[in-house]
Amino acid sequence: MLKDNILKIQKKLSEKCIQLQRSSEGITLVAVSKNRTIDEIKEAVACGIHNIGENRVQEALLKYKELSTVDSRQSALKWHMVGHLQRNKVRDAVKIFDLIHSVDSLKLAQEINKESCRIGKIQEILIEVNTSGEPGKFGIKPQELSELLKEVGGFNNIKVSGLMTIAPLVDDPQKVRPYFRALKELRDKINSLSLITYPLTLLSMGMSNDFEVAIEEGADMVRIGQAIFERQN
Ligand SMILES: *Cc1c(COP(=O)(O)O)cnc(C)c1O
Repeated sequence: MLKDNILKIQKKLSEKCIQLQRSSEGITLVAVSKNRTIDEIKEAVACGIHNIGENRVQEALLKYKELSTVDSRQSALKWHMVGHLQRNKVRDAVKIFDLIHSVDSLKLAQEINKESCRIGKIQEILIEVNTSGEPGKFGIKPQELSELLKEVGGFNNIKVSGLMTIAPLVDDPQKVRPYFRALKELRDKINSLSLITYPLTLLSMGMSNDFEVAIEEGADMVRIGQAIFERQN
């Protein structure tokens, strides 16, 4: 089942890329394995998944340890923190995650910088933006991005690789197109201002229900859970 699911997604990704005349290597498929077992993750890895997304640090640590002792291909895996990150979990998070998608405050960034410095790492992060303005949702407001970047861009142990957004849950994926488009426009606008010494590149947007629309709007990274790990009809 997993194999079929992954093949189907990869096919959709490559078809979209042909249609949009962009390279399919440019799009990273992150398999979001929160609440899934080690065996399910192993199966996904056997089907060609290299990028693992988790939303809780403790759960990710356990899985990371287990996969590293039983599977030598662990070294080829990349670990993504896609969920909200609490400051008291940062020390563990920087030990295992290659990319933290969910940085949404200066205080969190400061903590990540401090803990990465302690272990001699430059932590790659994305800034999470609440493009839809839904109340109660994590992520900074679009108009807060430049202020945050001015600070975080100067941190020695953080590299801001790009932006992330989570679209509202709706039935029709076309309805979330404006939020994906807004993230891309925000990135392009920020880059034109040259607030930091390097450009922001990555856009992490699109999940099981809306990843095709996200790619049409310029996603570089899609985060997919259900469409990989659950039976599709
Ligand atoms: C769970 C989760 C996903 C995957 O969602 P699906 O609808 O299962 O594809 C993506 N991003 C984040 C931040 C998540 O928490």
